[in-house]
Amino acid sequence: MIADERMVAFINSFDKGNTPFLENLEKEALAARVPVIRRETQGLIRFLLAAHRPMKILEVGTAIGFSALLMSEYGPEGCHITTIEKCEKRLAQAAENFARAGRQQQITLLAGDALDILRELEGPVDMIFMDAAKGQYIRFLPDILRLLPEGGLLVSDNVLQGGDIAESRYAVTRRNRTIHARMREYLYELTHHPRLRTCILPVGDGVTLSVKNCLVDPE
Ligand code: SAH
Ligand code: MG
Repeated sequence: MIADERMVAFINSFDKGNTPFLENLEKEALAARVPVIRRETQGLIRFLLAAHRPMKILEVGTAIGFSALLMSEYGPEGCHITTIEKCEKRLAQAAENFARAGRQQQITLLAGDALDILRELEGPVDMIFMDAAKGQYIRFLPDILRLLPEGGLLVSDNVLQGGDIAESRYAVTRRNRTIHARMREYLYELTHHPRLRTCILPVGDGVTLSVKNCLVDPE
């Protein structure tokens, strides 16, 4: 948890919750220790869907399909979601959940490593939700930038590495050092890329919002 626990509980006390299907799926996922986006992050995504109204959405990291189903439920009428997952077991569960929810037509599930799949995809995509292996984000970025049109939105989850990101690299365990370095590099790219305007939010496990534009920073 990055933000103060009491504050997060207070903020979440205003959460109206999701549809019964999603509430149930979230419980199943948490019980099975499958990752799902945090409560606060769900609220942010619902807000972004309402504000940005993306008709074409791409997700990297499906898990069992909770966030894809959340976006299909709260996205604009007629929106389409393409989501990428590489783990066989989770792919099967996601496909089953999309069918159970009656959303197979609206969600395309792509099986394989996002690094290969992204290369083959064609844009434009109005909104991209990045929620896969943290150490890989920086490697996905060139294709992500190619897929985003002017005004396209990139949302990246888990960018603050449970708070570790702000620590010196010597303070993080050896195992996490590579991720630490790569995530710092990713944050630097997002905030300094000439075509991106990015803000970093301490929501959930850390989220960045980036919009692609032809930007000229004031002198
Ligand atoms: N978005 C989901 C949670 C995703 S958890 C939700 O909120 O419901 C991250 C998922 O990304 C895991 O299931 C993992 O298998 C997958 N993943 C990690 N690296 C990947 C890669 N390179 N290509 C495809 N999937 C990947
Ligand atoms: Mg995540």
